[in-house]
Amino acid sequence: MDYQTVLDDIYRDIAPWRGSGTVARYIPELARVPVDKFGMAVVTVDGRCFTVGDAGERFSIQSISKLFACVMAFRLLGDALWQRVGREPSGTAFNSLVQLETEQGKPRNPFINAGALVVTDVLAQRFVRADTAVLAFIRRLIDQADLNYDSRVAQSEMAHANRNRAIAHFMASFGNMQMPPEQVVEAYCRQCAITMSCVELAQAALFLANGGVAPLTGERILDVSANKRLSALMLTCGTYDAAGDFVFRVGLPAKSGVGGGIVALLPGELALCVWSPGLDANGNSLAGVQALELFTTYTGRSLF
Ligand code: GLU
Repeated sequence: MDYQTVLDDIYRDIAPWRGSGTVARYIPELARVPVDKFGMAVVTVDGRCFTVGDAGERFSIQSISKLFACVMAFRLLGDALWQRVGREPSGTAFNSLVQLETEQGKPRNPFINAGALVVTDVLAQRFVRADTAVLAFIRRLIDQADLNYDSRVAQSEMAHANRNRAIAHFMASFGNMQMPPEQVVEAYCRQCAITMSCVELAQAALFLANGGVAPLTGERILDVSANKRLSALMLTCGTYDAAGDFVFRVGLPAKSGVGGGIVALLPGELALCVWSPGLDANGNSLAGVQALELFTTYTGRSLF
């Protein structure tokens, strides 16, 4: 498959969507990102890499960090993780508290904020600094030692984290938080502030498309069953409260973030990442979802 031609065609055809949507405005650092940025990268399990546009520019990965943190927690606890966090789509906003009351402090899935905070709590029990551990894990996945988080974004996240604090404290009231909630929220804010490019994100997620083995290093990250479980969660819960529509349009497991990035998998073949900061009403990159839909349409390749 000539993925470079596919990416070039998408870049041309995405023009009407480029610059549409609204950049995340809850912190000034994200509000400042030019809305017309667009990049896309495809990396294959056999070592090829194709890019277009701003695919090499680092951006705030935000909720995409929830994927890597969840992989780490799953490696630590195995299926015991699901005693503390569920695996159903929430049907509510990513930062909602509503279901936590009726569901006794157990979040619906690890990709909403409540679930990600439980995952961070698991990591904080094991590592001195959970966010540093997540960063080290991603660095190792792509062999990129200079990867870091943006400290200004992290500080801003902390200054606007009252809702996440409320979620963490609320879960603590049900006994579903082992470490101090403030410590967990701080680590979560830092991991959201990690910056990566489309190429780096696609490379980091590539093991999920390769049966759990990182092609770059040959290291097994997840066993085959765990890899299936994580990829399935991306499919059902990875794109906020629009996962159904996303799968309908794109047909791939994916994880999005409010920085405008979306990382997706074509199992057995490749990982891809698109970045365009203008978001739709659900918080997914507007041009990004469109570009991924064009990718599966033009290539005829999806899960289905
Ligand atoms: N960092 C933000 C928060 O936790 C949003 C993350 C995202 O959904 O991308 O509220």
